[in-house]
Amino acid sequence: MSFIEFTLGKLTKAEFVAQLPKHLAFECWAPGVLYLPGEGPVSLVLSAGIHGNETAPVLVLDEIVKQICRRQIVPKYACLFILGHPQALLEARRYCDTNLNRLFCGYHQKVKPCIEANRAALLEQSVKRFFQLHDTHKKQHWDCHCAIRDAIYPRFAVVPVAQEQDMHHCQRSMASHLSMLQQAGIQAVVLSKLATHTFSYASYIQYGAQAATLELGKALPWAQNNMLDHQYFQDYLISLITSNTHDARGETHSRLRLFSVAQQMIKSRDDFTLAFAADMANFSCFGQGELLAYETGREYRVKEKQEMVLFPNAKVERGARALLTLTPYHDKGLYD
Ligand SMILES: [Zn+2]
Repeated sequence: MSFIEFTLGKLTKAEFVAQLPKHLAFECWAPGVLYLPGEGPVSLVLSAGIHGNETAPVLVLDEIVKQICRRQIVPKYACLFILGHPQALLEARRYCDTNLNRLFCGYHQKVKPCIEANRAALLEQSVKRFFQLHDTHKKQHWDCHCAIRDAIYPRFAVVPVAQEQDMHHCQRSMASHLSMLQQAGIQAVVLSKLATHTFSYASYIQYGAQAATLELGKALPWAQNNMLDHQYFQDYLISLITSNTHDARGETHSRLRLFSVAQQMIKSRDDFTLAFAADMANFSCFGQGELLAYETGREYRVKEKQEMVLFPNAKVERGARALLTLTPYHDKGLYD
C-alpha cells in the first residue's frame, strides 16, 4: 500500500483503492488527494510535496497513511491527506512551469494555463469540499515543506495572520496554535500579514483554519532523508489525528522565537542579485544600512536596527518574492 506510488502514477486508482482496508471509509478524490471521514470538533488538512524536491514530509504523510491502513493508529478526526504536486515529485524538482505555492486563493486563474494552475484549482476544490463536509470549530491545515538552504532555526513555521486587531481578537486561538507548533518541535514562527496566495494562507483566509507553512529542515532527495530526524514531528501529527496526548519523551522545548516580516523584496529585474553568500542560512542577521540585494536602479538595505533574512532566492521568476527580512516579534500577551 503506497499513497506515494498511486500519486506518482505507479499504481492505478483501482489498484490503490483495492489495497485500502474496507473497515475504513477512505475516499480517493484524485491522485495525491485522500479523504478519511471522521467525527468530532476538529478537521485536519495535512499536505506535503507542494514543491516536488521536498521529499521528507511526503514520506511522513505516506507513513501515516500506511499506519492507519495497518490499524496501528486509529484516527479520530476527519483528515484530508494531500501530496501536492505529483509531476514535480516524479521529476524531483521544485516545480515544472511556475511555483505552485503562489497560485492559491484563486490566483491560478490569473496565470496562463499550466500544470501548476490545474493542480492549484484541484487542490482548492478538494479543500473546499473537505471543509464544507466538516465545518468544524477547529479547522487546521499543516502544509509541510523543506527549505532550500540551512537555517539557524531548522524547523520553523510561517503562520498567516490578518491585521493587528484581528490578531488580538484571535489571541486565544493564536496562543493555542503557537503552543501546538511548539509541541510539534517547531523552533521559530514567522507571523506574516502578507497576502501570499500560499496553500496555508488560503485555508486561513477562506475558512478561518489554524494554518501554517512548516519548514522541516533542508530539502533532500528521496533516499538521502534520515527519517529519524522526522520521527518526532510524525509522532506529533499522529497524536493530532488520533486526539491522543503527545508523548514528549522528556524532550523540553525552548521558548518559540517569534518574528514578524520587516521587508518583502520582489525581483523586478532579471539582474536581481543578493549581496551576501548564496549559502547564507535563513535567519542570518544583518545590521542597519547593510546592503542585502540590488538590481538595476534599486538597492535593498536593512532599515531596522537588525533584520534577519528569510527565503533568499535570486533565481525566482520576475515579479516573485526574492527575499524577506524579519524582526523579532515582541508581544507578551500573544504567547506566554
Ligand atoms: Zn516548499
